[in-house]
Amino acid sequence: MTVKTAPAKAVPVATPTTKPYWEGTKAGELRLQKCSDCSHHFLYPRIRCPKCGSANTAWVAASGKAKLYSYVINHFPAPGWEGEVPYVIAMVQLAEGPRMMSSLVGVPADPAKLVLDMPLQVRFEARGDMMLPVFQAAGSAA
Ligand SMILES: [Zn+2]
Repeated sequence: MTVKTAPAKAVPVATPTTKPYWEGTKAGELRLQKCSDCSHHFLYPRIRCPKCGSANTAWVAASGKAKLYSYVINHFPAPGWEGEVPYVIAMVQLAEGPRMMSSLVGVPADPAKLVLDMPLQVRFEARGDMMLPVFQAAGSAA
């Protein structure tokens, strides 16, 4: 007899390049890379500045402030998300400049409630032994 268990949500795996990012989320910080030569902030993690090509970069803590840039309301769940549809997959514009894909939590999956440019704030949710950044409306209770 086979016992079927519900699939779990995917857990990210840190690589040598992304390790500082994931260490940041565990410390409650959203970390970005900043070019020490041209001051450009960037995300996803990489070994060279995408603007000027410099390898002289450093990890910095972002403010966690963002705006809703775009979104999609997902009705067809990925494995592990079956009990949560519909849910909002958001593209957020960080205050420091980079955009990132994330989840929007605490806001109904209703276009009338999802106002582009609405202010957002990062928070972190546990997934396996990792912490993932998600976003909520700024000023709402965590
Ligand atoms: Zn640069």
